[in-house]
This record gives sequence, structure tokens and C-alpha cells, in this order.
Amino acid sequence: MSGPQHQPKVTEREARQVAEAAREQDWRKPSFAKELFLGRFRLDLIHPHPMPATEQAQRGEEFLAKLRDFCETKIDGALIEREARIPDAVIDGLKELGALGMKIDTKYGGLGLTQVYYNKALALVGSVSPAVGALLSAHQSIGLPQPLKQFGTPEQKETYLPRLARTDISAFLLTEPDVGSDPARLATTAVPDGDEYVIDGVKLWTTNGVVADLMVVMARVPKSEGHKGGITAFIVEAGSDGVTVENRNAFMGLRGLENGVTRFHRVRVPAANRIGPEGAGLKIALTTLNTGRLSLPAMCVGAGKWCLKIAREWTSVREQWGKPVAHHEAVGAKISFIAATTFALEAVVDLSSQMADEDRNDIRIEAALAKLYGSEMAWLIADELVQIRGGRGYETAESLAARGERGVPAEQLLRDLRINRIFEGSTEIMHLLIAREAVDAHLAVAGDIIDPDKSLGDKAKAGAQAGVFYARWLPKLVAGPGRLPGAYGSFHPTGHADLSTHLRYVERTSRKLARSTFYAMSRWQGRMETKQGFLGRIVDIGAELFAMSAACVRAELLRSTGDHGREAYQLADVFCRQSRIRVEELFGRLWTNTDDLDHKVVKGVLSGTYTWLEDGIIDPSGDGPWIADATPGPSARENVHRPIR
Ligand SMILES: Cc1cc2nc3c(=O)[nH]c(=O)nc-3n(C[C@H](O)[C@H](O)[C@H](O)COP(=O)(O)OP(=O)(O)OC[C@H]3O[C@@H](n4cnc5c(N)ncnc54)[C@H](O)[C@@H]3O)c2cc1C
Repeated sequence: MSGPQHQPKVTEREARQVAEAAREQDWRKPSFAKELFLGRFRLDLIHPHPMPATEQAQRGEEFLAKLRDFCETKIDGALIEREARIPDAVIDGLKELGALGMKIDTKYGGLGLTQVYYNKALALVGSVSPAVGALLSAHQSIGLPQPLKQFGTPEQKETYLPRLARTDISAFLLTEPDVGSDPARLATTAVPDGDEYVIDGVKLWTTNGVVADLMVVMARVPKSEGHKGGITAFIVEAGSDGVTVENRNAFMGLRGLENGVTRFHRVRVPAANRIGPEGAGLKIALTTLNTGRLSLPAMCVGAGKWCLKIAREWTSVREQWGKPVAHHEAVGAKISFIAATTFALEAVVDLSSQMADEDRNDIRIEAALAKLYGSEMAWLIADELVQIRGGRGYETAESLAARGERGVPAEQLLRDLRINRIFEGSTEIMHLLIAREAVDAHLAVAGDIIDPDKSLGDKAKAGAQAGVFYARWLPKLVAGPGRLPGAYGSFHPTGHADLSTHLRYVERTSRKLARSTFYAMSRWQGRMETKQGFLGRIVDIGAELFAMSAACVRAELLRSTGDHGREAYQLADVFCRQSRIRVEELFGRLWTNTDDLDHKVVKGVLSGTYTWLEDGIIDPSGDGPWIADATPGPSARENVHRPIR
């Protein structure tokens, strides 16, 4: 039995340093979103909307047709929800279709789909069963195929990609009982022993872990002679001696998810199974997520489309107070929000994915924004659908069907979507991650001024450099095409809504956003990184501006290709108007908020000043430990691993 995990003690500063070291520092290609945060609206980087090559589109469409047929005839989402399990036949069928290898190159037996079509496939599968969508996405977006593709050796690719394309399910294991958003605390170790490493530790919430054949495991290699050490990624066979799945976890939603607690007890892994060098594990994980992050918002797009369909069908037949509920203004506003936001979400995901395929731009911020915005907005959309459905929105599909009504799983969707705001980077962490990139230009020139560890001499030097940078940069933020009435005129074709006015707004607002960031940097300097309320709002404004830009560019694409151009312009117009209201509110809250007061309340809550407010209730959770001891308990020995072959 391995002993309790030795949890490294980590300060906030050290945690940030680990995150910083894992960050990709260079910007080799242009980035639309980075420019946006700097006050430069580079419409040319996203317009005209990039398009897939004909051959890629054809291959993608052919696969989607087969997948649609499979989903319609072979996947019973209600059964998966009821039994909290994906039937083996579904997984076998997906394997036969090649769905495990959607993103794997054809030379390794995969389908070689583009990011655009991979996302469309996930949205399709996720619409019939979010749990199946999550299985495929965990396997391909964060599981082994992507890090192997980007960082694997030729031998590793030859050995594993054919298996991963056809038969083997993979899982990604980073989280531990004591390691969530903060990987600096990672306690699983991989100790070098000759030409092997010996892995010990416990991994929590391993999606696919219960059924996986192969795993990417993040473990800490201790520093020693000949070993640089650090957090490192390993390929581990799930059937290796010493690997045990101790629990199958159950959640609020995604009931079919095969998610477990995986223990490693003296698991021997050949050094040849290390992905990249020692210490590169987190960088590999983050780089994998650059495009991997697009899967989750893609499934949010699918959720939005389904909500729109149900909202349309239900509100036109449900009559109350003398007319269909759709015609009551309060319900109508929700329908309009669902339609407009779904249009914008699809625009964001398709644009980012297409840019990922083209590989002309750096899309790491766009993908992060898509994850953040998609997960937050899809949650709001599903919540509005539940409201529109009234009491039926709260009733389970099974209960609805049992009493003879259509089994609409609106409450299930809400439960299934909730996790998107937590995993693959929680909303709070996404805010910090994107804010870090948004202020990167400032830190690059002024970083030493605000770093408490730098000498006065370094600070003076940085001050001079910053002076030169800002003398050139700030004046550019005063004026731009957004102030000219005729700018972006091609976005106001005759007979269509006027989108040029929204693009002008985006241009003006991106300059205002950059100015606000600059003021905040000058005001708070080194404390800027602690101003999470402010930074979160800056990022949310950026997300809205990106969504508005994407919506306008998509509308123009649809107009130019003759596909519903007028309606697309209308949806983009209403989305931009709704989005502008949110942006103005966020700007208002940049400087008028309760952030400082909230700090005081938090102190009061934590010191027990308000415990009287908790009187009059019973806490059903009792007083057990908050975090399980990593040492296995008596009931934790059973191996619940469920191999599917
Ligand atoms: C269903 C499910 C599937 C999962 N699948 C996988 C998987 O396949 N592989 C894997 O490795 N992990 C997986 N996870 C783990 C998931 O990625 C983590 O839950 C997530 O990273 C958050 O970590 P945590 O839950 O420990 O929260 P914590 O890190 O403990 O955070 C608690 C709260 O504090 C906030 N917070 C934390 N740090 C900061 C900060 N610096 N500033 C502001 N706010 C902060 C968080 O946003 C959150 O609101 C899964 C989790 C679930 C529930």
C-alpha cells in the first residue's frame, strides 16, 4: 500500500510561478483577440470568414451523415440517463464508425477530420447524449491523441495512435484530491528507476478513467542527478500492475460519465512512455487545451440549438391567458435571447475552429473566450428554457413521458451543462488566464516596475522603457475608424439590418477597454493581479466584443453565400444590441461595484461574525472530512474498472 500523499506546501506566489512557467510565452502568429484587448480591432484577421477546403468539407459531411444515422438509431439518451451508464453496444458502435479517431490523422487509421467537423460531430452526439459527447471529447480533446500528435515521438505515434483511433479509450489525469485549479500542489510522483519511472499517487475525477485503456498521467519527477524533474506527462496502460479504479463517481448531471478515482501503486512505466521532456507536463496540457477547449463550447452550441427548437415548438402551442405563451412579452424576450445567443455562440465556435484549422492565426485566447462565454451563456439559455416550460421544465423527461406527455429533458440539460463552468478551467480560472494574456503587453514593458522582487535600478530601467511604449501606444487609443459614420459600410447592404454600426461600436469599445486596462494598471500596479473582480469584467467585455465581431462576420458570410442572409443579419443585429447592453453594464461595474465591501464581508463571514445568520437550519452533510485522505479506506479497495473491448 502506498503511504499518504505528501502534499507540497505551496504559497500563492509559487502557485502563480508554476502557472506562469506553463504558459506559452511567444506569439508567433497574429491574434485577433489579443489585439482586441490592446485596443486594435483587426477585422481583417477574421473577415472574410475563413472556409474549409472542399475536400475536407466533403469528408466531414460524409462522416456527419453516418454519425447522425447512428445517433438517431442506436443511442438512447433517456436510457443512458436512467441507467447512468453508456451501453457497451454504443461504445462498440462508435468504435466501428471510427469516432474515437475523428481528430487522428488518416495515416494512423483515424478519420483526419478538421477541428470544424470534429466540433460539429461532438455537438451532434452531445445533443442526443451529453454523456457520450463527454466521453468522446475527454478521449480526443484532453486525452492521449492530441498531446501525442503535438509532442509525441514518431515511435509513440506509431504505437499508440492506431490503437487510439480504433479501439482504445483514453483519459487525462491531472486532478488530485488536493489539486484542482492549482497544479503546483501536485503530489503524484514518478521516481526514475533505471530506464523506467515508478508512479505513486491518487487521481480524482478521471473522466473515462473507469473504462480507459490508456491514460495521460501528470506526475512530479523529483529533481536528482541527470533528472531535471518537475511535472511530467506519461502514457500509462490502464491494465498495468498497480493501477486501481477505486470509485465510480456520480454527479449532478452527465450521469453516464465513466468517471473515477484512480490509484497508482508502484506502477512501472518505461521511460519511452514519457511525453516530452521532464518538467514539460503542464505546458503540454495547456498547449493541448489551446484547441481542445473548443469542444466544450461546441457542445454548448448544440445545447442552444436544441433549446431553440423546444422553445419554438412549445411556446407556440402552449396557451395561457388567451394566447400562446410566446406572445407574452416576458416569454418572447427569452425566445429572442435564446435565438440570438445561439447564433452568436455558433459564430464564435465556427470562427475559432476554422481559424484553428487554417493555422494562420494564434487562437489560444479565442478558444479560451469561447469556452468561458459558451459555458456561461449556454447555462443561461438552458435556464430560460426551463422557465419557458414552466412546471414541465422542472419535471423529469421520464415523469413527463410516464403521464403521457412528450419527454423533454429540460431539467437534465441544465444539470448536464452545469459542469462546463467548472471543468477544463473554471470560469474564475479562465478569467485569470485570459486577463493574464490581456495585460501581457503591459507586463512585458512595465513588468519590472511592479515586481516586488526587482531592484530599484531594474524598476527605473523598466520605467524608462514603459514611458517610450506608452507615449506611442496611448495616443492610438484616442481615435479610430469606429468614430467615422461610413466605416465598415459593407456590413450594411441594402435591405439588411445595419451591422456596420455594431462593428464601429466594437472598434471604439476595444480602445476604451484598453484604456481602462491601462488606468487600472497605473492605479493598482503590483496589486492588479489580485483585482479579480475588475479583471473578470475586462475579460467578459472582451468576450462580448469577440462574440459581436464573430456574429457580424458570420452574418455577412451567410449573406454572401446566399444562406439565410437577411435572417442572419437580423439575428446578429439583435445579438449585438443585447450584447451592447451587457457591455455597458460591465463598464459601469468596472469602477462602481461592491468589491471592497465584499472583502470586508468575507472577513466577517470567515471570522464567524455572521454565524447567527445560519441559525434555524440543519446541515445534512454532517461533519466528515472535506477532502478524503489519499490513503485507501476499507471500502476503497474494490477495483471498479470496467474494461470495454
Ligand atoms: C465531472 C467532472 C469531470 C472531470 N474530469 C476531469 C478529468 O478528466 N481530468 C482531470 O484531471 N480533472 C477532471 N476534473 C476536475 C476539474 O477539472 C476540476 O474540478 C476543476 O479544475 C476545478 O478544480 P476543483 O474542483 O478542485 O476546484 P478548486 O480548485 O478547489 O476551486 C474551488 C473554487 O475556487 C475557485 N478558485 C480556485 N482557485 C482560484 C483562484 N486562484 N482565483 C479565483 N478563484 C479560484 C474555483 O474556480 C472554484 O470556484 C473533473 C471534474 C468533474 C466534476
